[in-house]
Amino acid sequence: SAKSHGRNRFNYFTSAMQDNAQKRMSLIQDLKVAIIQQQFELYYQPIVDLSRQQIIKVEALIRWNHPTMGLIPPADFISIAEETGMIIDIGNWAFYQACEQAAKWKTQFNHHIQISINMSPVQFKDESTDVENWFKQMSLLALPTNSICIEITESLLHDIEPNVEAKLQAYGNAGMQLSLDDFGTGYSSLPYLTKYNVDYLKIDKSFVGRLAAKNNDMCLCEAIIAMAHKLGIKVIAEGIETESQRRLLAFAGCDYGQGYLFSHALCRDDFEQKYLVEKAIPLQASQQI
Ligand code: C2E
Ligand code: MG
Ligand code: MG
Ligand code: MG
Repeated sequence: SAKSHGRNRFNYFTSAMQDNAQKRMSLIQDLKVAIIQQQFELYYQPIVDLSRQQIIKVEALIRWNHPTMGLIPPADFISIAEETGMIIDIGNWAFYQACEQAAKWKTQFNHHIQISINMSPVQFKDESTDVENWFKQMSLLALPTNSICIEITESLLHDIEPNVEAKLQAYGNAGMQLSLDDFGTGYSSLPYLTKYNVDYLKIDKSFVGRLAAKNNDMCLCEAIIAMAHKLGIKVIAEGIETESQRRLLAFAGCDYGQGYLFSHALCRDDFEQKYLVEKAIPLQASQQI
């Protein structure tokens, strides 16, 4: 009957919901263990000068080596880590890991490679996140402050709290660099760009994926590039997958790019072998020391 059918559907629905709640609970449990056991790993993707075809820096992208489920991408755990506050420990781990890696590359390969790290607004806003502490960690590793670039998204700059503003100011003054990630997907408010000492704009990969000569996304990219350059900001295009996208962006004056056309994000060993040993794409000369 309709009634029993309805009830069955209702039962099915609640059990699916319980299933989700259970999955969520076990994910949270596993994440707690992952933090204690440091099951995370940074992968590295080169950012390339589009006209000179040289690596100018790398972006660190986190992965979770789950003991039974294998490698888990950030899309599957960052938002839960943000909701539960665990992102603060994870983000601190990633920051220190990137610093250690930059220091190691300096001593092992004589390369000063800037590493970009993604920082969640939740972590950045948290009071325990103290930029002075970052500088201390870097100086203990004998790393100049420009070894690390922080990638933030526009959402951090909305309704900005005094504490966030002070942090942004402090590290701008200390010479750390700032990238605005996923540009064009949020409420892109232009005054932010001049107020917060932004060094790089990253054009979101959704625009790059739709690029074609003279289409709307191409016009948008050209306008973003022209505006950024007027403000002294360099532009990085994300998600470049084809040679035709690279050519269109280079022709539009885009400075740098990142994407599968050049390289996927690689684990440390693979990154070192391919780019520091074989030099599949050479590093910009200023990075040799
Ligand atoms: P994002 O910072 O915008 O990073 C770019 C994403 O695009 C990466 O995905 C990268 O692997 C992917 N990508 C690179 N080239 C291409 C391409 O040519 N085509 C396509 N389709 N994708 C490309 P990933 O590594 O899965 O990271 C996803 C997002 O997770 C990142 O987006 C970032 O928002 C977040 N994330 C990654 N690592 C961290 C971290 O350490 N902390 C925090 N808070 N967030 C992180
Ligand atoms: Mg990023
Ligand atoms: Mg992005
Ligand atoms: Mg700056």
